[in-house]
Amino acid sequence: MTKRTARATARANIALAKYWGKSDVALNLPAVPSISLTLDGLVTTTTVTFDETLAADVLELDGRPASAKETARATELLDRVRASMKAPSFARVVSANRFPTAAGLASSASGFAAMAGAAVHAAGLSWSDAKLSALARWSSASAGRSIFGGFAKLPAGVPGDAKLAAKPLFGEDHWDVRIVVAEAAKGPKKVGSTEGMERSRLTSPLYDAWVQNAPAITAVIEKALKKKDLDTLGAAMEQSTFAFHACAMSASPSILYWQPTTIAALRTVETLREKGTSAWATMDAGPHVKVLCHAADAAKVKRALAKTEGVLATMVCKPGARRLPER
Ligand code: ADP
Repeated sequence: MTKRTARATARANIALAKYWGKSDVALNLPAVPSISLTLDGLVTTTTVTFDETLAADVLELDGRPASAKETARATELLDRVRASMKAPSFARVVSANRFPTAAGLASSASGFAAMAGAAVHAAGLSWSDAKLSALARWSSASAGRSIFGGFAKLPAGVPGDAKLAAKPLFGEDHWDVRIVVAEAAKGPKKVGSTEGMERSRLTSPLYDAWVQNAPAITAVIEKALKKKDLDTLGAAMEQSTFAFHACAMSASPSILYWQPTTIAALRTVETLREKGTSAWATMDAGPHVKVLCHAADAAKVKRALAKTEGVLATMVCKPGARRLPER
């Protein structure tokens, strides 16, 4: 009996330049470039064991057997690894997200980055970061960025380019910023990112405008990141955020990820700025508000968000380091 096993840890990331929409659905290529910050606090740990006695892949997620859909997504990734194995077998995957799954806190990013790292290592393969990122990206575009620590960029994909991978821009020590997460609701979101993106692409009158404008916004963010110019970066990040949400809201049927608490937290961020604190908001495909600020302002921002009506919890995240296979 042969068992090959490996464990890997990956961290979620928050997009500063947002990703929304695919240029190639089959290859899961993004239609727009995105830039992310990998976060220290949002960790997934995954163990993959290739086991020839198994009759099918098995996924355990956060201590429960995963659904058929979740298991099928894992099998797709494992199949791409098995294609490079001499003696492929099914695998048992045990994964834990140390934060809410499917609630807009990018569990798919750290989830598929950790699974890619563990599966490739368990298979005994030595893949480059670019190859690992392309593998993770195929399962979840944001996962391609979570292969790296610090700040990473995923370019827009040209249809057919299966090798598209994220690139590291700066390490976690580049800039002492914080992301303060304000949890705005409990439970999984109603429309998953993949479905929301496809509906936006197919039905939103704002979709083409979003795709056309995103590269210019991303370029502003990349330049401001290099110069560590928080006000310029923050304003462009908010523009990127509101543009993609407008695109989702104007789909048919409309997709509104926000809750009343989301708006309340956005007002808190505005008030902080009016009072002189450089704090900037972003939201992903969910109701939570994530606020970018200088490390020195994080406690003040956290206090203001915690006092905001409806906010359930707050969490301060530092830039996170890369931490993949535990070789
Ligand atoms: P999120 O915003 O949390 O990333 P998505 O709807 O994009 O939400 O993705 C959630 C899906 O990602 C889950 O339903 C599951 O299929 C997959 N996923 C999340 N975490 C893991 C994990 N640790 N291991 C394997 N798959 C995961």
